[in-house]
Amino acid sequence: MKPQIPSHAPPADADARKAVKPVICYPVDSLTAPALELYQRARATAQKVDEVLIPARDARTFSVPAGQFFRISSVEGSQVGDLNLWNADDLNERFYSGKTRALHGTHLSVSDRMWTSFPAMRPMATIIDDTLDWYGFDEFGGSVHDVIGTRCDPYTNNLLSGGQYHHCCHSNLTRALADHLGCTLDAAQPHVHDVLNVFMCTGFTRDTGQYFMKASPVRPGDYLEFFAEINLLGALSACPGGDCSDEHSSDSAACHPLLVEVFAPENGALGEWRSPHVNGYDQSHGR
Ligand SMILES: [Zn+2]
Repeated sequence: MKPQIPSHAPPADADARKAVKPVICYPVDSLTAPALELYQRARATAQKVDEVLIPARDARTFSVPAGQFFRISSVEGSQVGDLNLWNADDLNERFYSGKTRALHGTHLSVSDRMWTSFPAMRPMATIIDDTLDWYGFDEFGGSVHDVIGTRCDPYTNNLLSGGQYHHCCHSNLTRALADHLGCTLDAAQPHVHDVLNVFMCTGFTRDTGQYFMKASPVRPGDYLEFFAEINLLGALSACPGGDCSDEHSSDSAACHPLLVEVFAPENGALGEWRSPHVNGYDQSHGR
C-alpha cells in the first residue's frame, strides 16, 4: 500500500514519466488457442458420470480424467468456492495461480486456461462455459473468478484477528486432500496451493491498491465449466465467507453447498485430441 503523503517531492518530469503508456507483459497472441469449438461439440455429446456435493464450510476432492469435463454450480444460495487442481498422476504438478494471472489477467472466463507449475507449465484445464460472463468489470474494478486472492487461511486470520478458526478454505482443502490420500494433515498441507476463486467478486481499490471483495453476483443455477486437459485431482472448498460480502474467517456468514459434476463425452468425440505436452524448456538453466 502506497503512503498517502509521499516523503519525496516529484521530479520535474514526473507527469511525463507517469504518462508513459503501459504494455501488456505477456501478450498471449503466440499461444495456441484452445480448441473451444471441438470441446463444446464434444461437451454436447457428454453424459454425467459423477457428482460430488461440497458441504458448506467444508471441502471435498473429485477426479476428472483427461478429456472429460467438470462443472461447478451454485445450488442453494450465493456461495463462492476455492478451487485447487493437481495432476492426478503427480501432485507436484499443480495449478499455478500467479502465472495464470500473468498470462490471462486477474479474472478468468471462457477460453482462459489454468496453467500448471514449473517445470511442466502447461494447460491443465480450459474454461468452456461461464454463466457469469455478462458481469465483466463493475464500476469498482471488481470481477468474478479471480486468480489474485490466495485462499482464506487460519494463519492470516490468527495474525490479523487472533484466535483459532478451523474452517478456512486452506484447512478445508487440507482435510479433504488428507482424506483422499489417506495421509496426515501435515503431509497433505504442503500440497494445498493458491486457488481459483470460483464465483468470488474481487478487485483492487483504485486509490490504495488494496485487495477487496464484495457480495458475489452468483445465484443458484449459475455455473463455471471446465475441460480437463490432463488427468485431474481437484479439491473445492465452499468458503466460510459464503457470498464473501463481509467476513470469511468465521461462522457468521450464510453458507451454502456447491455442486461438482463430471461429464464424459462419447468415444471419438474429441477426434485426435491429446493432452498438452510438458513445457519445452530444457531445464539446463545455463549450465
Ligand atoms: Zn475461503
